[in-house]
Amino acid sequence: MARFVFITGGVVSSLGKGLASAALGALLQARGYSVRLRKLDPYLNVDPGTMSPFEHGEVFVTDDGAETDLDLGHYERFTGVHAKGTDSVSSGRIYSNVLEKERRGDYLGKTIQVIPHVTNEIKDFISIDEDDVDFMLCEIGGTVGDIEGLPFFEAIRQFGQDKARGQCIFMHLTLLPYLKASGELKTKPTQHSVKELRSIGLQPDVLVCRSEHEIPEKEREKIALFCNVRPEAVIPAYDLKSIYEAPLAYHNVGLDQAVLDAFQISPAPKPNLARWHDVKDRLDNAEGEVKIAIVGKYTQLGDAYKSIAEALTHGGMANRTRVKAEWIDAEVFDKKDVAPYLEGFHAILVPGGFGERGTEGKIKAAQFAREKKIPYLGICLGMQMAVIEGARNVAGIAEAGSEEFDVEAGKKRFEPVVYHLKEWVQGNHVTKRHLGDDKGGTMRLGAYTANLAEGSVVAAVYGKTTIEERHRHRYEVDVKYREALEAKGLTFSGMSPDGKLPEIVEWKGHPWFIGVQFHPELKSKPFAPHPLFEGFVKAAVEVSRLV
Ligand code: GLN
Repeated sequence: MARFVFITGGVVSSLGKGLASAALGALLQARGYSVRLRKLDPYLNVDPGTMSPFEHGEVFVTDDGAETDLDLGHYERFTGVHAKGTDSVSSGRIYSNVLEKERRGDYLGKTIQVIPHVTNEIKDFISIDEDDVDFMLCEIGGTVGDIEGLPFFEAIRQFGQDKARGQCIFMHLTLLPYLKASGELKTKPTQHSVKELRSIGLQPDVLVCRSEHEIPEKEREKIALFCNVRPEAVIPAYDLKSIYEAPLAYHNVGLDQAVLDAFQISPAPKPNLARWHDVKDRLDNAEGEVKIAIVGKYTQLGDAYKSIAEALTHGGMANRTRVKAEWIDAEVFDKKDVAPYLEGFHAILVPGGFGERGTEGKIKAAQFAREKKIPYLGICLGMQMAVIEGARNVAGIAEAGSEEFDVEAGKKRFEPVVYHLKEWVQGNHVTKRHLGDDKGGTMRLGAYTANLAEGSVVAAVYGKTTIEERHRHRYEVDVKYREALEAKGLTFSGMSPDGKLPEIVEWKGHPWFIGVQFHPELKSKPFAPHPLFEGFVKAAVEVSRLV
């Protein structure tokens, strides 16, 4: 029987609710409990799969192939617990389930209403697999008072009543703005936010207050008094140098203790924070720095490649070095010489992406890395671009291209070295797709096995020859070009178990040039850096020592 912590936010968005939830998960684990984290998003998209990374940041893919909110990435990075499709839901999904049931006649002629039908659907979602963990942490997206959020707030209120007393607690994040003119922290927005919560029947047990300045004791007491929360459950949250300091920082100000107190768990088990002390030590005591260029498309919004940025940090931590990642829009050298843009970097990463824009620039970046023997990591589209580059410039297939661009642009003349996947095998199941299919949820998604060639660089990097990694793409390198490319040194060093789908390529004779069809960044953690990122940063360190 799980205990439930519901995490809500008020005053403004982007307060770091996801991070606070993830850090709390890590702290409960440190006290010996099992945890699962969930995200309930009020927007109407059925899932974030079709949302632009410019608007909503990265789409995080789970092992079971769900396209979810990027907060699930934080949850995994902090707890190491692999998220499932059932850990992320949106209003769109909830309503679509309800309407499907209505069409099937499941409601036996009843009038369908937000209460109880929509709220019941939300409550059913919250309780999936509830018996499997000690604590279920459910974060509600958005801020209290948003129109779309109301059914979720109502559902968690009911949920708290449905369960035994003391089985659910509510944690609320707010902001204490600082007024420079008067030199004061203001508590009024927090009071209003809690008032808003209480007006819909929710009384927070723990208040987490983000603040750029230290919160004086008397302000803390005032917040406690006005918000009807115990003073020790008013938790300050200050800005940190690194997000990975959050578990220790929250522990030091008593967050986990306040949560356990709210559940009346006494005596609380002692925490073992060794993992987080080691993480902090690696962050604080890094030596040197490597400069890595990320040649992509969604470079204006940091969240668009969240997991890649984090995985690079982890790779740096594994090598006890700082990684300075610089985001470069591939489009800027589509038609220009790349050298002035990429010279001076110790490694080049081309991440995933969709659509044709900037792809000629990415192809040039792959060529530059190959020719100058600079470490290269191509992820998904970044692998496809490396293959097209090799096909054009080394194997003499001058018209090499991808169906993704040439079909969209209505062009005819080209050799589809990368083609639209129509059929593939996962376990015992064959999946089929057609060109005009819906865009939502129809990619090759989730964890697939790959077999690595003995003696290859990737086999050494992983230290094994069977791996499982997460996918999210529609297009695939065509295995029929394998022979022609391998003859020129581009080895297909990772393949799907049936030998049909190229999963990894690497250039022979290059110190570190790897392209992968999957997304290794999704599985990297600060306390368990992904081997590809560890190896990539190590290769960059070696280059930095030469110059
Ligand atoms: N657009 C490419 C495809 O669909 C690559 C996708 C990606 O990089 N995630 O295959």
